[in-house]
Amino acid sequence: MNAVIAPATGKFETQVPILVIGAGAAGLCAALAAKDAGVDAVVIERDPVTAGSTALSAGLIPAAGTRFQRAKRIDDNPQRFAGDIQRKAKGEADPAVVDAVVRGAAPLIEWLVDRHGLPFDVVDNFNYPGHSVLRMHGLPSRTGRELIDRLRHAAEATGVTILTSRVAERLFVDPDGRIRDVEIVQRDGQRERIGCEALILACSGFGGNPELVRRHIPEMANALYFGHAGNRGDAIIWGDALGAALSDLGSYQGHGSVATPHNILISWAVIMQGGIQINREGRRFCNETRGYSEQAAEVLRQPGEFVWNVFDERIAEVARQFEDFREAERAGAILEAKDIADLAHAMRVPVETFVAEWREVENKKVAAAPDRFGRRFLAGQACKAPYRAVKVTGALFHTQGGLAIDSDGRVKRKDGTIFPNLFAAGGAAAGISGSTAAGYLSGNGLLTATVLGELAGKAAAQCPALGQK
Ligand SMILES: Cc1cc2nc3c(=O)[nH]c(=O)nc-3n(C[C@H](O)[C@H](O)[C@H](O)COP(=O)(O)OP(=O)(O)OC[C@H]3O[C@@H](n4cnc5c(N)ncnc54)[C@H](O)[C@@H]3O)c2cc1C
Repeated sequence: MNAVIAPATGKFETQVPILVIGAGAAGLCAALAAKDAGVDAVVIERDPVTAGSTALSAGLIPAAGTRFQRAKRIDDNPQRFAGDIQRKAKGEADPAVVDAVVRGAAPLIEWLVDRHGLPFDVVDNFNYPGHSVLRMHGLPSRTGRELIDRLRHAAEATGVTILTSRVAERLFVDPDGRIRDVEIVQRDGQRERIGCEALILACSGFGGNPELVRRHIPEMANALYFGHAGNRGDAIIWGDALGAALSDLGSYQGHGSVATPHNILISWAVIMQGGIQINREGRRFCNETRGYSEQAAEVLRQPGEFVWNVFDERIAEVARQFEDFREAERAGAILEAKDIADLAHAMRVPVETFVAEWREVENKKVAAAPDRFGRRFLAGQACKAPYRAVKVTGALFHTQGGLAIDSDGRVKRKDGTIFPNLFAAGGAAAGISGSTAAGYLSGNGLLTATVLGELAGKAAAQCPALGQK
């Protein structure tokens, strides 16, 4: 059975104050925040082990004005951060939600460090497109696996109950839109109904539902989906049936740099440090630094639907801070050559065309002048032998559209009023990237998952439904 809703009957086996569906970053931050506010939260998770798209990410969360930035003399503030988000989203992001996340991000990082022991620090050796200062905060391994594992440990240590290998299928709802209970299905088919006083949908977007992707994001219908397969759009299916407002369903985080055929993410640091993308005709085709998200469709429009990232050892060394890059090296995905013509042979691209492109780029670096696509290289980005190349394709990472929410994560109806006890955060909620892939600023995914998760958890703990029966 797919995600459905049904009229409440008042018949359920157990009752909890706050029920959270989905144990990714959003669900676990929500549960931790509720628990810190003194209210019990139970999390339902489809998988046997918590992972979600969160585990597939680099685990980098942008935040403005943290003490970690101050320690490295990085001058930043929430207004500047909001400006960067809206510039990328072309002013289309909901200002109230943007305001809530930019103000909430630094306290969130410091809360996770101080209260829950997650050792975040600010990444200070490269920046992502669109961020005007260094503000990505990451854990030592720079992996989402570490982020989700540490969040799960923190949740368990705090007394949050996580019920794994259970899929939430049916919401039982009063005529006024109050969610009374949720039907959960276990792996062996056994069903149980859990009553709740507030429900937080943290079950992410619809990247794992090919039919919904085809309907809402046709340009990615045939692309590799690189996110969590269990994210099947349940939140928007329930929301639609309940009469919730849905926003920006065509918006998504793509990525134009997934090693193929190895299916390993190659960090965009490779490009931001001075690397370029070359198609199989040996040509560059755009300004790669606009953003990795819109670059997914751009790469898929190239002959053969793949391109090559070309860079050098200095850049490889920066990228090695990411486990994915090290894995790509171990898997033999990265070609190496002592000169650029040899690299062209190894890539099987036309040598003369590629060498001419390469020379033009290296000259632009020396001159620090914009190239024909408007990309501005820096003198310090000059590349030298040995050179590297990796074959990459474009992929869909996660969807950004979802349930319209207010700045506390309360789900809105189509008429703008809010549901009495329904919240959404992370990929389940509409993001802050506007209506297209080009509006995605790096970090928007985990920013809205963690900060809105925390805000939703806190607000759910204050929900008027708590205490009412
Ligand atoms: C390869 C990759 C790299 C990325 N890198 C970054 C990055 O560095 N920075 C950044 O900000 N963002 C990044 N993102 C995006 C980021 O990972 C997501 O935006 C974020 O993890 C979403 O968190 P979430 O908690 O909403 O969803 P998820 O982490 O996907 O968690 C949702 C959970 O809900 C469960 N679930 C779904 N339906 C049900 C149901 N009916 N019943 C029970 N459980 C259910 C799923 O199994 C899943 O565990 C990346 C994404 C990918 C794929």
